[in-house]
Amino acid sequence: MYTFVVLVIVVALGTLAYILFLQQKGKKLSKIQRGFCPECDRESITIKRSKSMGCSGTTNVIYRCEFCGYEEEFHITSGGCGSRGCGL
Ligand SMILES: [Zn+2]
Repeated sequence: MYTFVVLVIVVALGTLAYILFLQQKGKKLSKIQRGFCPECDRESITIKRSKSMGCSGTTNVIYRCEFCGYEEEFHITSGGCGSRGCGL
């Protein structure tokens, strides 16, 4: 029983950490999309690599800050093929 309780707590904490991580990532991304680096707050964000994952509507983008060297990968969902997803 004790093991079960510990397991539940660990899973709950893990989920919470994951949600916080996603929120953090979302905040970073919205800042980056306005052209600012989330690390040093300068307007020096460039797209290092952008790769469309076919028609799934997900784009794999690596952003890089020219100033501090910050680099992070984001999976951006653009709402599938209906709108402007894959350019068809
Ligand atoms: Zn920076």
